[in-house]
Amino acid sequence: MQDKIPQYVIEVILKLEANGFEAFVVGGCVRDLLLGKEPKDWDVATLAKPDEIVDIFPDSVYENEFGTVGIKIKEGEETIDMVEITTYRIESKYTDKRHPDEVKFAKTLEEDLSRRDFTINSLALKLQKKSEYAIVDLFSGQGDLKNKIIRAVGKADDRFNEDALRMMRAIRFAVQLNFSIEEKTLEAIRKNAKNLKYISVERIKDELEKIILSTAPAKGVELLHETGLLQYIIPEIEVGVDVTQSHHHYYGPYNTVYKHLVASLEKCPSDKLEVRLAALLHDVGKPKTKRGEGENATFYNHEYAGAKIAERILERLKFSRKVIDRVVLLVKNHMFYYNVDEVGEAGVRRVVRKVGLENINDLIDVRIADRLGSGVPKAVPYKLRHFKFMVEKVSSDAVSVKQLKINGNDLMKELKLAPGPKIGAILDVLLSEVIENSELNEKEKLLERAAELEKREIGEIRGIAKKKIKEENEREEEYMKKKYWVE
Ligand code: ATP
Ligand code: MG
Repeated sequence: MQDKIPQYVIEVILKLEANGFEAFVVGGCVRDLLLGKEPKDWDVATLAKPDEIVDIFPDSVYENEFGTVGIKIKEGEETIDMVEITTYRIESKYTDKRHPDEVKFAKTLEEDLSRRDFTINSLALKLQKKSEYAIVDLFSGQGDLKNKIIRAVGKADDRFNEDALRMMRAIRFAVQLNFSIEEKTLEAIRKNAKNLKYISVERIKDELEKIILSTAPAKGVELLHETGLLQYIIPEIEVGVDVTQSHHHYYGPYNTVYKHLVASLEKCPSDKLEVRLAALLHDVGKPKTKRGEGENATFYNHEYAGAKIAERILERLKFSRKVIDRVVLLVKNHMFYYNVDEVGEAGVRRVVRKVGLENINDLIDVRIADRLGSGVPKAVPYKLRHFKFMVEKVSSDAVSVKQLKINGNDLMKELKLAPGPKIGAILDVLLSEVIENSELNEKEKLLERAAELEKREIGEIRGIAKKKIKEENEREEEYMKKKYWVE
């Protein structure tokens, strides 16, 4: 196994030892090595103090007051990795449930390992001569690794009281590694869940993101819910716990909005963060828009209400604008209507215009998640496959003014139009007509039609475009009346 440790990590340790300081590979990387996974980052714990480390490694960066020094690993001019060296430390009282009141350097590895969160994260590896190593395992971390158990080091209750984020970390590791959380540890999470409110939203978001991107994100959300943590992260999802949707499309176990959302996340075919978040949030607007009960319940416009709620949730959690915008787009459009023979190429072009060609596959994935999360067995129904085929077919057709075969300059040159709002109005009408019939997107035809339009008042031209929009809205309403479909 030692041959899995990069040479530069070994050299860092040997150099510390040569200077008279003991040093160990510690934490998550030892866990990952023992699991046969490739560690993401390398952490070294040592008796050396930060200033001593800096003396030994002149090219290092002392990052913070917590005793961690980053060593830049260079290949020529380029930094290829960082090895984080942390001085042994113990933590004193945590009055605020997130930061120790002070960080004290410790004298022994034992002290350092006992302040770590979980037994599987408190293993250390000592290099021996001749490419051998020894594992320091004070808390039966190896046994828990073997039995796939997340267990707090020491008394779970105390550990979660010190740093409430550890509760989310427990769940995060459980779903990343497919481990279960030991009973006392789980009990202590339930007991201390309310302390999550002391934790900064940035740290919460990082853990949530890891849970969502793990191999078992739905199990993660369920654990957050069961332990009482979810109400401090996304209470909007919990609102759906008691909201039933007994429409015949939602089979038994998926008949509440909450269960349907979790099941949709579970079945989400994409591993993209945005798509998974959209699967989890796509119906978050349902509780608010529900009218009536039982078979006759309706959720009109829940996708628009949901898009707004999703935006608020993700803004509060400080996701990037890019992530937020994409999730909102997917939630807002997840009800797009498609039916073979009923919606033609023009209808598909309208969906593409609204969503963007680059997002269509993600939208289809949300729809697949939605469908499977309602309990229907078949993965990709004929209808969605056909929709994909149609998108492909119209993929080079114009859905924006930019894609028209003429532009404002052409109009000014060929029709001697003066610059002004009339040009924009004409292009809008041309686009709406090209979306209806892509064969019209030829320079000659467009100019001919533009010449006709140009003779009219601008108000009249805008009226033509408006009428098109009105027709579209009516068609959408027609689709909405058909109710939500999933087959
Ligand atoms: P990964 O990097 O794969 O997310 P990791 O276990 O390496 O997982 P880090 O956050 O990088 O997690 O932390 C490195 C080590 O520091 C952990 O393995 C653990 O020993 C310790 N540690 C990190 N955060 C905490 C915490 N909040 N409380 C106690 N110990 C912690
Ligand atoms: Mg790490």
